[in-house]
Amino acid sequence: MLYYLENVELTECMTCEHSRYKPRTGRGKTLMAYKNLRYFSITPRLQRLFMSPRTAKHMTWHQSDADQPNTKRNHANDPLEVSIGPITRARAKKLKEALNGLV
Ligand SMILES: [Zn+2]
Repeated sequence: MLYYLENVELTECMTCEHSRYKPRTGRGKTLMAYKNLRYFSITPRLQRLFMSPRTAKHMTWHQSDADQPNTKRNHANDPLEVSIGPITRARAKKLKEALNGLV
């Protein structure tokens, strides 16, 4: 449950009635929540990456290399390395073997 806006004052979950805060131990006065939500604003981080020509080149490689034939456009960490093209029996078999290797 998100303790936000009209629920900001609640001290236990409306659904399961689990306490919002950890039980106090010792003489500590501050309430410690079980979980904290951190806001991660992605937009300014992406804008910063596109501001530098050096990093912008790495951010647009999928678009700038799209018109070149026979170019593999895989993510560097893609273990399957699925290339562009129609699915054939051989490619389907290779894909299935790669998936089985991951499981
Ligand atoms: Zn709950």
